[in-house]
Amino acid sequence: MANDVWVYIEHKDGNASPMSFEILGIGKTLAKDLGSNVCAFVIGDSVDGIAKDAIAYGASKVYTVEDGVFKGFRADAYVKAAQTLIEKYKPEIALFRGTSQGSDMAAAAAAKLQTGLCADTIGLVIDGGKLKMTRAAFGGNFTVTVVNEKAQTQIATVRPKAFAMPEKDAAAQGEVVKESVSVSEDSLHTKVVEFIPSATSVNLVEADIIISGGRGVGKAESFTMLKELADLLGGAVGASRAAVDSDWISYDHQVGQTGKTVKPKIYIACGISGAIQHLAGMRTSDCIVAINKDADAPIFKNATIGVVGDINVFVPKLIEKFKAKLNK
Ligand SMILES: Cc1cc2nc3c(=O)[nH]c(=O)nc-3n(C[C@H](O)[C@H](O)[C@H](O)COP(=O)(O)OP(=O)(O)OC[C@H]3O[C@@H](n4cnc5c(N)ncnc54)[C@H](O)[C@@H]3O)c2cc1C
Repeated sequence: MANDVWVYIEHKDGNASPMSFEILGIGKTLAKDLGSNVCAFVIGDSVDGIAKDAIAYGASKVYTVEDGVFKGFRADAYVKAAQTLIEKYKPEIALFRGTSQGSDMAAAAAAKLQTGLCADTIGLVIDGGKLKMTRAAFGGNFTVTVVNEKAQTQIATVRPKAFAMPEKDAAAQGEVVKESVSVSEDSLHTKVVEFIPSATSVNLVEADIIISGGRGVGKAESFTMLKELADLLGGAVGASRAAVDSDWISYDHQVGQTGKTVKPKIYIACGISGAIQHLAGMRTSDCIVAINKDADAPIFKNATIGVVGDINVFVPKLIEKFKAKLNK
């Protein structure tokens, strides 16, 4: 239907990226406000299981394009398929994850469809039948709300973890619409020869436990201590911008308005004061543990558990206790 809300489901090795389902949650709210349906679309070489999962997470219909040429993500092939589907069904809104794959597809599809794109949105609402898209601007100093006045399909990428994950209902029923899009291997400019995961890639956004360090950590070497705690708990290491700007840790660890938005089960903030720009990236964590030697540090206002103390004393004790508890 022409006023449906579509959500692109990313996947790898036959499994959907769970975070694509977050967008189905907000997509469903938007569809309700438009009096329409939330639909998923999936492109790949083996997508049946992914389509079922999309229905379980709320899609009433899933459009699939399945062919060997779509094994492994290649922007030129995937964009052609997305463009063909969107041109045929003319959804009101098409949402993609704000990841490198989602951003790649959304930007190219928007250009080919001659419509607009709002990237990295953190707020989406329907107002007067139009999609209002909120995102940070000017280095995070402002948030702006964007409306694509003339678009046939309004396209946005959504910042990972900006919206809550919907409940899964394995018994949910939905329709799968199989489409075929012809893309010849010869027409493609790229070939996936091998996939080599980056040794330094930081999966902060998907981590359930994050141990984050700020200026209070004092030096680059102290991040080794935070990494030891993170490894012990199966978590990842985050950082404030002050720690990143001090060159103690790389930017891909930065949490906050100009870094990553995270929502782990446990976020342990070590020597972080709790500036608004840092809180913007982690305040919705399920449980925030703040360790800070200043009892008046603003982070304590947002903490579930506050520890007034020196991280150089407290973190080694935590490591010792967890090692004993976990027999490591
Ligand atoms: C446009 C813009 C965008 C920004 N984006 C981000 C962003 O994405 N992420 C981000 O983090 N910041 C961001 N910032 C910067 C932000 O405003 C703060 O400057 C930054 O978050 C401060 O980092 P911090 O808490 O580590 O350092 P500080 O504010 O200096 O706090 C250090 C804390 O460590 C405590 N401490 C010191 N020694 C110890 C010790 N031994 N044990 C325990 N506690 C100790 C201190 O009491 C203090 O509370 C942005 C700023 C601007 C203007």
